[in-house]
Amino acid sequence: MKVITTIKEMQSTIKLEKQKLKSIGFVPTMGYLHEGHRALMARARKENDVVVASVFVNPLQFGPTEDLNSYPRDFERDKKAAEESGVDFLFHPSVEEMYPHEPSVVVKVKDRTDVLCGKSRPGHFDGVATILTKLFHIVLPDKVYFGLKDAQQVAVVDGLVNDFHFPLEIVPVNTVRETDGLAKSSRNIFLDPTERLAAPILYQSLQEAKKLIEAGERNPEAIIAQMKEIIEGKTNAAIDYIEIYSYPELKSLREISGKIIIALAVRFKKARLIDNIVFTIS
Ligand code: AMP
Repeated sequence: MKVITTIKEMQSTIKLEKQKLKSIGFVPTMGYLHEGHRALMARARKENDVVVASVFVNPLQFGPTEDLNSYPRDFERDKKAAEESGVDFLFHPSVEEMYPHEPSVVVKVKDRTDVLCGKSRPGHFDGVATILTKLFHIVLPDKVYFGLKDAQQVAVVDGLVNDFHFPLEIVPVNTVRETDGLAKSSRNIFLDPTERLAAPILYQSLQEAKKLIEAGERNPEAIIAQMKEIIEGKTNAAIDYIEIYSYPELKSLREISGKIIIALAVRFKKARLIDNIVFTIS
């Protein structure tokens, strides 16, 4: 595996691979790699000739009061994880390399962002869409791998790729979880031991919601109220949101039907965690 830190070298490397008619799979990340990232890399390894991953904590997608400075970083560990997962090129640019000056153009996402994390993190998805636009132009991937843990991100990137005609395929990958159900996340290290014990309640509440729907409940408000009760009964964490929408359109539902997402965000003392399930009601 080769580590590349400049845009110029990344572009010349890709050019060579393209000349050899190699297919390129790409896994964008913010690092502090765990099993979730590894699952994306393993899938990319299976489906492409060349696998590129990036590790870049993108300042543009963090709000002024968010955890940009404390976001966990350990590039030596990431290098090992990426290499073990079959990555050929690990792109690790500095902030100065990606943003040598205030951006003169940014991407503004207009759909699918007025709900969920888009609502509670204003500007977040503009930052995500801007960095991905830059990375897609640098890496020119055929397939890009995203985790459904960030299901709204997948929905937003779907809009970006369609509207801007990127000639690539988005591959969504199921959420990888700890054995107790907690979704793997770089931010889990910020949970204190009591919070860590309580955190699986998030996924349990999602599963309870699914059971209620399978038993015939169709009123989103009733399901959300149940989930709130379950979570508040087990932890002091503040619920940021619990919401139910059509997926991937992210439109409100008066009555639950079709393909839906049930999603939540919860603030523990030092970590804001998100989780969701997406499924179709038959
Ligand atoms: P991040 O480093 O948090 O920006 O995540 C990089 C990519 O890994 C995104 O596409 C995430 O959705 C994905 N990812 C993060 N956690 C998980 C997980 N537990 N399971 C599957 N994919 C994940």
